[in-house]
Amino acid sequence: MNPELPVTKLKGIGEKLAETLWKLQIRTLADLVGHFPRRYEDRTRFVKIGDVRDGEFATILGKVTAVENKPLRNKLVITKVTLDDGSRVVASLTWFNQWRMKATFEKLIGKQVVAYGQVKRRYAPELNTPEWEAIDEDGAVDSLAIGRIVPVYPLTEGLSQTRLRRFAYEAVKLCADEFEDALPDALRKRRSLPGIAEALRNIHYPESDDALQAARHRLAYEELLALQILVAEKKREVAIQPGIAFPDVLGPVEELRGVLPFSLTEAQERVIGELGRDMASTLPMNRLVQGDVGAGKTAVAMAAMTIAARGGYQAALMAPTEILAEQHLKGIRARLEELGLRVDLLTGSRPAKEKAAVKERLLSGETSIVVGTHALIQESVGFHKLGLVVIDEQHRFGVLQRAALSDKGVRPDVLVMTATPIPRTLTLTVYGDLDVSILDQLPPGRKPIRTHWKKRAEQDKVYAGIKQMVTQGRQAYIVCPLVEESEKREAKAATHLAEHLKAHVFPELSIGLLHGQLKSDEKDAVMEAFRKNEHQILVATTVIEVGVDVPNAAVIVIEDADNFGLAQLHQLRGRVGRGEHASFCVLLADPSTPDGTARMEVMCATSDGFVIAEEDLKLRGPGEFFGTRQSGIPSLKVADVLRDQDILIEARTDAFDLLSRDPQLARPDHGLLKEAVARRRRAAEALQIG
Ligand code: ADP
Ligand code: MG
Repeated sequence: MNPELPVTKLKGIGEKLAETLWKLQIRTLADLVGHFPRRYEDRTRFVKIGDVRDGEFATILGKVTAVENKPLRNKLVITKVTLDDGSRVVASLTWFNQWRMKATFEKLIGKQVVAYGQVKRRYAPELNTPEWEAIDEDGAVDSLAIGRIVPVYPLTEGLSQTRLRRFAYEAVKLCADEFEDALPDALRKRRSLPGIAEALRNIHYPESDDALQAARHRLAYEELLALQILVAEKKREVAIQPGIAFPDVLGPVEELRGVLPFSLTEAQERVIGELGRDMASTLPMNRLVQGDVGAGKTAVAMAAMTIAARGGYQAALMAPTEILAEQHLKGIRARLEELGLRVDLLTGSRPAKEKAAVKERLLSGETSIVVGTHALIQESVGFHKLGLVVIDEQHRFGVLQRAALSDKGVRPDVLVMTATPIPRTLTLTVYGDLDVSILDQLPPGRKPIRTHWKKRAEQDKVYAGIKQMVTQGRQAYIVCPLVEESEKREAKAATHLAEHLKAHVFPELSIGLLHGQLKSDEKDAVMEAFRKNEHQILVATTVIEVGVDVPNAAVIVIEDADNFGLAQLHQLRGRVGRGEHASFCVLLADPSTPDGTARMEVMCATSDGFVIAEEDLKLRGPGEFFGTRQSGIPSLKVADVLRDQDILIEARTDAFDLLSRDPQLARPDHGLLKEAVARRRRAAEALQIG
């Protein structure tokens, strides 16, 4: 049957049910076949009720022997269903406050029921709110629900697992063979992947666990292949048109070494070497530098900027916040002006007159280097000769913003710097068109930051510790609790905290206050005073999260730390440990969720950004990790970028290989793949525009 026919072609699906299915985006038979199970239950083997163990997820099959409602206080009720499979003990299935359960099960007394869930067991096992279904002993449903690996589908209201299973089964049976295989035969053979029909049959109704894994592998591979072809196309596009070849790379870097107050680490030298080769070549540079907080990415950026400026071009550095832009300006100006290069600042909140003057100098070419925020990508900003774009802390900017700045020059080189250590698989998925350099070494002399998790009850001790460190000449950050999404309320909370600390805890110290509602020159003044140790304590919101660099600050206390994400905590912690002093991070938290507790434990256990990023991904999943919309991370149906690293590498190799032999995917056996890639491209574009 033609897969493009509407679902109403199936027996048992009328207009009403079609509407329900539409809620799952299912309109055609093909959609139904594309609605993959979210998990499976191996019902080739049921666990005997007498044998289930506490804590395990088990599927049991038994006869309903009793149903009762146990009333609780406040009109609440627990429904308890007893299941007997002839074991020594019976199992109870329980539901809380589901008033209709009792009547439902009363009709099933004496019938067989399958239940799946996590077992709680002291003596007799109990499954709370299990998934379940009645087995119609000689009905047709039977064969789909027992004695095999059974699919469990995502559902919607008004549609039962049993019915959806039946429909999916019918749809697969009727049209799996009608699907054309998008994978060219040669690739499929090389990777020993099953054909599309076999894969579709087994992703729904696996013949065996091996068949299921093979089906999953194939479908994940197909998804990742389309994605990687997209990436490979982007990369080829960039490579086709020549960019700028900077004539001298070694000279400018040597000049920079002369004005830096430290010698570059080996890792910095290596990364500068990598980007130097890019810049010397006519291929436009598109490089991502990943380096943990404090690894010294700014010096790397300065090397690139010096190369660009000495080559007669301008360089622009875009940072995510004004504070960070201003700090970059200071650091960069201090070094590069010694080399006779003019460095300017462009952020939204500078006085209009100053902004106009900077824009003027950018147009005339008098300014070699400009540091700024997204103010740089406004239409009114033009360059004389933009040759290098540096984007700091990439994960805050979308791909489009990156492009908006590049478009102000003629194929300038692009350097993206991120402090979020991104696991390799994700780098390939999200930034697959970028070459990656890793800054995997901290400058020498850094003492590890010791992290402690303290309960609120111990807060006085924590404050006493701060006092002691201040006595020794150090400074401290105190980061305020997150207050919902409102910057205004967050600023207010920070103000309160600062006042409270001043009045009751640290009356003899000077306390600075930094939050997002301050005007730019106020922020400047506070940071400057803190830098000069005129304030011993800086109370701040997360505006200090990225990049703020005061080496004498050796303690950071994060209030209600369990409300922050891991990446954010790691960034915040990176504000200390930047000088030669032993540094501490104190997480003040009484976590109310297991996730919150897990985050505190991860933070205490490691300060390796890569480990933290991986844990973060596990806890949150890739979508949230990046903020799906801005990163343009594609939605994948089968593939799991964490688990399927090997498949991703295979798909990537094959994608680049394929394009090198058939750049337009013009060969007839690449036609379907070309369509799949086009669909991915449209989805990615929609995501970025949205
Ligand atoms: P990040 O990678 O987090 O952006 P920064 O570029 O802000 O790190 O550098 C962190 C600190 O380390 C700065 O104070 C910087 O001056 C210092 N630093 C950078 N490179 C070196 C080095 N090779 N030796 C000593 N200190 C360095
Ligand atoms: Mg930085």
